[in-house]
Amino acid sequence: MSHADRIARARAQMAGAGVDALLLSTGPDLPYLTGYEAMPLERLTMLVLPVAGDARLVVPRLEAPRVDNREELFEIVAWEDTEDPVALVASLVPVSTARIAIGDHTWARFVLDLQRARPDVRFSRAVAITGPLRVVKDAAEVAALRAAAVAVDAIAAEMRSRPFRGRREVDVHRELVERMLDAGHERANFAIVAAGENAASPHHDPGARVIDEGDVVLCDFGGTMHGYCSDITRMFVVGEPTQEMRDVYAVLVEAQEAAVNAATVGTPCAGVDATARRVIADAGYGEYFVHRTGHGIGAEAHEDPYVVAGNDTPLVPGHAFSVEPGIYLPGRFGFRLEDIVVATAAGPDRLNHASRDLAVVE
Ligand code: ZN
Ligand code: ZN
Ligand code: ZN
Repeated sequence: MSHADRIARARAQMAGAGVDALLLSTGPDLPYLTGYEAMPLERLTMLVLPVAGDARLVVPRLEAPRVDNREELFEIVAWEDTEDPVALVASLVPVSTARIAIGDHTWARFVLDLQRARPDVRFSRAVAITGPLRVVKDAAEVAALRAAAVAVDAIAAEMRSRPFRGRREVDVHRELVERMLDAGHERANFAIVAAGENAASPHHDPGARVIDEGDVVLCDFGGTMHGYCSDITRMFVVGEPTQEMRDVYAVLVEAQEAAVNAATVGTPCAGVDATARRVIADAGYGEYFVHRTGHGIGAEAHEDPYVVAGNDTPLVPGHAFSVEPGIYLPGRFGFRLEDIVVATAAGPDRLNHASRDLAVVE
């Protein structure tokens, strides 16, 4: 879908929601609609998109050369360091405006200043406008997610023959970051490496812990490639796993498989979560699965739809999300297994294909 089409669809959403103007700054909504990503700095960049009439991109003078406006989606309004960009934006919002939707990632300082500049206007979150568009991925977006998944699959496969023993968590973390960049990601978003008892902490911060014989090592890594995110978790054990480790991991594999298979069009997100949770609870580990089953993924590493109890949104073709149940035994070890899945009319399309077997490493 072209940027012009996306802007047209955003305007239709605005009309339906009674929003007169959409203001987008830092964050993924602006590149989604225009292809231009604002620099997350102190100088304000802001798209002013009225429901009807010309769009304008307010941008710092020195960043104007970065803007590719070949599609002529907006008029560029460059501001000098001696000017007040908030006053400029406020002056570009049509006088008749009663309601503004503003991007979720806009810095509070700009939101507060804009509210002061236009006290007559009601502000709401842009997610009501852009969310319904972004949550359903088109073919090009699914292709980008697939390419990012292929890249991290290759890394996960390579790690199976890498030595772990004697290295610190941060060493493996750095290797994963470098491999993601080498594999074509423009950005590494995170690389959790958690060894032994640290693997029982789902979002462990990799540190100086030296990986040793008998350790379970959780590797959860992802980045951004051509604007779309990867996210995968695979499990490694240094030397022979204990029978208990094998048993717990087998439960997790079964839970993840069941949840992926449950992710059919029409199934509520909560149903996918319940499927994973039931398998783990039936095996007696329910209290050790301490987070939701997954999150949507796209331009952001975590976005709608969330695979969590209470989210009754039915899956539709183009929903992309992680399925990542975990079992965490405090003070001992933990396991998580994560793949990205796209809901399609033909059934769940798993984007990650790296082996899910417990990797026994040196
Ligand atoms: Zn996580
Ligand atoms: Zn992850
Ligand atoms: Zn994830």
